[in-house]
Formats: sequence, C-alpha cells, structure tokens
Amino acid sequence: MKYSRRQFVKVGGLATTSLLFNGVWNLNYPQKLKGVSEPKVIYTWDYGPVPGKTAMALINEGKSSLDAIEAGIKIIEADPNVLSVGYGGLPDAEGKVTLDASVMDWNGNAGAVAFLQNIKHPVSVARLVMEKTPHVLLVGEGAFEFAIENGFKAENLLTNKAKERWEKWLKFKKFKDRNHDTIGMLAIDKQGNLSGAVSTSGWAFKVHGRVGDSPIIGAGLYVDNKVGGAASTGLGELAIKTAGSFLVVEKMREGYSPTEACKIAVERSKKYQKKAHHQICYIAINKDGEVGGYSFLDGFAYTVGNRRRMRLKKAPYLL
Ligand code: ASP
Repeated sequence: MKYSRRQFVKVGGLATTSLLFNGVWNLNYPQKLKGVSEPKVIYTWDYGPVPGKTAMALINEGKSSLDAIEAGIKIIEADPNVLSVGYGGLPDAEGKVTLDASVMDWNGNAGAVAFLQNIKHPVSVARLVMEKTPHVLLVGEGAFEFAIENGFKAENLLTNKAKERWEKWLKFKKFKDRNHDTIGMLAIDKQGNLSGAVSTSGWAFKVHGRVGDSPIIGAGLYVDNKVGGAASTGLGELAIKTAGSFLVVEKMREGYSPTEACKIAVERSKKYQKKAHHQICYIAINKDGEVGGYSFLDGFAYTVGNRRRMRLKKAPYLL
C-alpha cells in the first residue's frame, strides 16, 4: 500500500512511541484514524454563531448529530426576522407561508415534509416522518395532519413584516433572485456519525404549490456516513435537475475534496441556467471532518465550527 504524506502522518501518529516509517519520524501527535473526525458543524449562510454553538453544545454533551442539528435549525425556524425559513418566512404568490424541510441520519434514514403550512418547526416534523412512518416524504394537508396528530400546534406563520413584503410584491410581481435562502446544516458527533438537515420557506412569492429542492433527498440534502454529507441553497430547481447534493457526496466518494465536489455540482448546473444566471450553492463535509462550499455567483458564505469556535467563511464561486 502506498501512503501519501498526509495518510502517513495520520497512520504514524497512532503509535505512542516514535516510529521510523518510510524514512520519516512521526511526531507522536495524538492523531485520529482516517475516517474518524472530531465533532464539527457546518451550515449555510450567515445565520450567526448561535445555531452552531447550540448544536456543538449538544454534541459535547454526547447527543447525536441529528439532535444537535435539529436544535440548531429550530432556532432559525422560530426567528421572525429570518425571512426565508419557518416563522416569518416570506409567503408564496397567494400569501401562504409554505415550508419544506428534510433530515438524513448516519444510517441512511431520511424524512421530509413539503408544502407544509402553519407548523413552525418543519425540521422536527421531517424527523418524525423518518422515525414514525415507513415513508420518506409527506406533503401538504397530509403532512399538516401528521404534525397535529403528533402534538404540534397550528400557528399563523405570516408575520406583519412578511405580509407587507408580499403586498409590495403584489404591485409589481417581479421575480427577484435574492428572495430566498435555506438553512442547511451538517454535523459529525462524538461517535463520528454524520447527519444533515435543511429547512426553508423556499422561493419567495413562488407559484402556490411549488416545492423546492430542500425536501428532495439527493437534491437539497444527502448524507452517506461512509463518505460525507452535502446540502444546497439557492434556486432549488437547479439542485433538483442535477441531483446536486447526491452528486457532491458521490464526488467526495471518488476522492474529491468537499470544495472540489461542491464546485463540480455547481458547474453541472450551467446546462440548466437560462438567460439570467441564478444562484446555486452547496456546502459539504467529509468523514475526515474536512469542509467546503462553493457557489455559482458571488455572495455565498457558510459557517463552520468545532468545540471552540464558529467562523464565517466566504465561499469561492464560478462567475
Ligand atoms: N433552495 C430553496 C428553494 O429553492 C431556496 C434557497 O435556499 O435559497 O426552495
């Protein structure tokens, strides 16, 4: 077996005494085996450090990556000042707030909800779809009834601020590229298990009934515990047409770094971009805890953190 310098340091570092290997002394660092990363979290956009800190605190307590991510995303879902997720999200063309979300865990289990109305925490409903039903995706009325049966309460999610924006939009009905954003979060816990989840109110003022990439496993989210995970944000139609998050994970399986894999998925969307270019962005984490992100247009950033700190990173972009 041929070792690269990087692999060598990792393998060599497992020994407690110095060892001459391939002519290089190892440094006795307490290295981890390849494939077993330190706990880490990565999420889309600049939602501030709180979702990540909340997730990492739970992971530090020994909770699973799924528990951690759900808690982190719920903070954003409940925030009325975030106009693209959960409570306070901008409505569709008919003034209805319709939500999409999905989760995927380290065993390959997945759950999702789409076109869900009047429930503040779609991420938690998506998790229950995964845990309590033999299905992956519930939509609309059925998803709502499922949520109510499982103890969620019906709430009006349209805030005055969001209603005002919708009323303004009604006057001109202009499609804007910046009326969106999804919180997508991926994490590795102390057991080395990966999970991911996404939640969004989707494209603002979308056609009533429109569902984006977020609840489509493989488009808005994908996790393979042996390889890594990916999530998308931007024009969901592009992530659906390219099976974008699945593509990112498959490229990492082939050996590409998270950033390279995200770039490949962004490049793939070129074929589906019409006259005007639309934003499409991916974040990814691999089993070693390496993270990356990439976007079609300038302006995407993601937050990455560990036990010690959260950092906002600007993503590289294609155009
Ligand atoms: N991907 C989401 C959607 O198309 C929106 C976004 O993340 O910007 O519904």
